[in-house]
Order: sequence, then C-alpha cells, then structure tokens
Amino acid sequence: MGTDMTLRSAFAAALMLVTALPVQAQLKVFACEPEWAALVQELVPDAQLTTATSHLQDPHYIEARPSLIAAVRRADIAVCTGASLEAGWLPMLLERASNPDIQSGRPGLFFAADHAQLHAPHDHVDRSMGDVHPEGNPHVHLSPDQLPEIARALARQLGDVDPEAAAAIQGRYIRWRGDWNRLRSEWRDRAEAIEGQSVVVQHSNYLYLLRWLGVDVAADLEPKPGLPPSASHLSGLLAEPGLADASAILVASYQDPQPAEWLAEQTGLPVIVVPGTVTGDASTETLGGLIGEIIGQLESVRSGATHGSL
Ligand SMILES: [Zn+2]
Repeated sequence: MGTDMTLRSAFAAALMLVTALPVQAQLKVFACEPEWAALVQELVPDAQLTTATSHLQDPHYIEARPSLIAAVRRADIAVCTGASLEAGWLPMLLERASNPDIQSGRPGLFFAADHAQLHAPHDHVDRSMGDVHPEGNPHVHLSPDQLPEIARALARQLGDVDPEAAAAIQGRYIRWRGDWNRLRSEWRDRAEAIEGQSVVVQHSNYLYLLRWLGVDVAADLEPKPGLPPSASHLSGLLAEPGLADASAILVASYQDPQPAEWLAEQTGLPVIVVPGTVTGDASTETLGGLIGEIIGQLESVRSGATHGSL
C-alpha cells in the first residue's frame, strides 16, 4: 500500500509537471502596428503575434474585422501607439473582444505614446475638426531618443503579464538598448551630411526623425494632419517661400503618390517613397533598419543621386 501510494504520488507529480508546461506557453500579443510587433519580437522572440496593420495600410483608418476582434479576445497583451492614432478602430475592437485583461489601466494594454513626449499637442481640437492628432504627433516609433524609453516600459509591462519571463525579457531589453545606442551614434554621424536640408512631407509620420536629424519641413501636402491634400491647398503650396529650399518630397509607401507627383512635376523636386513602418524586407524589418534606410534616402538626395530620376 505504501509503495502504491508512493507510485501514485510520483505519477501525480509527473502529471503536474505535464500540466505545468502550458504556463510557459507562447505569449499571445496583439500589435496595432508593425513597429510594435517588431519591438515585441526583440523582447519576446517566441511571442505569438497578430499585427492589425501592415506598412501598406494607413494605421489611422482600418476596419475592425472579425479576425482582429478574435485576436484581441485571445491575446495576453495588446501593444498599440495610443494618443488617438487608433481612435477610429481600436475602441471598437476592445469593446467587441471584451477581453478583461485588455482594458484601460490593466497591464494587458500598452500604449507607446504614454511613455513619450509628444510633439505639438493642441487643446480644443478633435477629429471632428479635421485633425487626427489632437494629443500631439503619435508617430513616435521613429524617434531615436524616445524609443528606448518606450522599449523599457514595454519590457516592464510584458514582464508584468508574464512574470516567469520577466528576467529574460529584461535581459533582452538591455541587449537591444546597447545595439540601439550604437546605431544611434552612427545615425548622429551620418546626420551631419544632411542637417539643414528641408523636405516636403505628406502627414507627420517622419517628423520625430526629421527633427532629430536637423532636417526641416518645408511644407506639408496635408492641410491638417489626416486631411487629404486638396487641390487648393496644393496650389497654395507653390507660393510657399520655403519650397525653393526644399530638396525632396518625402512620402510613405501606403500613401496616395499623386499629390507628391503633382508637386514634383511643378517643382522638379524628387519624390522619396519610404515605408512608414517596418516591412518584411530584410533591410527594413527592424526599426533600426528602417531609420537607416530613411537616412540613406535623404543622403542620396543630398548627393543628387535621385535628382530627376523619379
Ligand atoms: Zn498620424
């Protein structure tokens, strides 16, 4: 009987081991934009990721598809930009998914913008007045100085959601931070050659990076953030005194290229098309790679390599 009991407890212990295994199951992460999926991957390489948008989509406006609702419902954490970038679709996703872990104030909902200093916030403006960025520019993923703080906060919050992995996540954050700092000093060196340049933009996607590089914005093809370029706004731009000093028109690959092409025809400025976020291509699959690519494009304009070729 005693032996039987011992066997039985050994069997029970073995069973417990087996049932304990799912605790180490993959962390299920819902990322609103590809940049946050890429950052999560750096911190939790085996995370099971669903990304709501791609570099070919405008992240301000997507459809709250049933597959996305299902992904939020089964996720352990949602990682988004915040500051109203997803105001048109995320609240509906969260409501329909009704995942108790993914709610405002819970560790299961992370907003990058909560850990950044946003540029150009303005009071008394909301989306109904035509500006999609009432709380300031939310496109902080291309800010070389702010991303480390966002990554640090994200590492902490991922650790809160998955305490057993917290130490490993912290270790990966520290390594990522070292790599980022090295890249950032390379970018700083490269910025010397493009500092003082000015470009025409379409929306404020790249503003944090441009400011960091010392590249000015000569004009914006959008009359207000989120408002499509209108014919009257575009023809008004031709009278902008700053336009004469601009060296290129910088647009994101998800944007309609027509306004930029029209202005290029009028002015002879080259059009640079770069992804607004990470892509599946090796050179731009990380945020560091993407920033390097954008700097490279600005360098080539500076050297005249793309002049007249686009
Ligand atoms: Zn925006």
